[in-house]
Amino acid sequence: MSNAPIYKRILYKVSGEALMGKQGFGIHPETLAQVAMDIIEAKSLGVEIGVVIGGGNIFRGVSLAAKGADRVTGDHMGMLATVMNALALRMELEKQGASAAVLSGLDIPAVCQPFSQRVLDAHQENGDIVIFAAGTGSPYFTTDTGAALRAAEFGVDAILKGTQVDGVYSADPKKDKNAVRYDQITHLEVLEKGLGIMDAAAISLARDNNIPVVVFSIAEKGGLAKVLSGKGRSTTISGQ
Ligand code: UDP
Repeated sequence: MSNAPIYKRILYKVSGEALMGKQGFGIHPETLAQVAMDIIEAKSLGVEIGVVIGGGNIFRGVSLAAKGADRVTGDHMGMLATVMNALALRMELEKQGASAAVLSGLDIPAVCQPFSQRVLDAHQENGDIVIFAAGTGSPYFTTDTGAALRAAEFGVDAILKGTQVDGVYSADPKKDKNAVRYDQITHLEVLEKGLGIMDAAAISLARDNNIPVVVFSIAEKGGLAKVLSGKGRSTTISGQ
């Protein structure tokens, strides 16, 4: 692709579910390889990339809490699931020839580096793809909020949220055929309309720090690079 990228530094949010492919649970090797390939393709456009990966393909704290168990323990398990995904993604990125690092919001030094701004700066100077694991490092949050937090710390131009649909809709387009798709929408409108594309804490944090969120589909190969080249179909959530 010849176009200069529309953003120089991004935070790419990939949900855990994006890694499980059609198998319904865990990590599907071919799907993981595709996610890594998309990231490397985007990097080759000259974009600095931080990645926040979710854990929903393995575990979500709320699902344990719903059965009456302790939410905090469930969330710790959920965060560990994101670490597993992050390690798998790093391994795949390295296998495909990229340099990558995992920085975790939970301290597990034998497994990956604990997140700190200084370590982040060092990896960024080195040109590594940085994968942020364990969300915010605290229970009662999601990896979307982790993405907004790390996006602010990484000083990105935008958060790119890869989803199963090609943008933000007024309702779930898979359930409601009258759902309307937005090309542009503000953070405040997303909050006021209660749109479920990201949780309110994540949208508020992005709004407070003036970070646009670009929502696009990762169903198609190379979707990330396309959006970065200003070509793909997406919705931009921004201040104006
Ligand atoms: N989690 C948490 N704090 C965070 C981020 C995640 O406790 O800052 C836990 C929470 O239990 C969550 C799980 O990790 O359900 C997996 O994250 P998420 O549901 O955001 O993953 P995704 O939906 O993106 O796959």
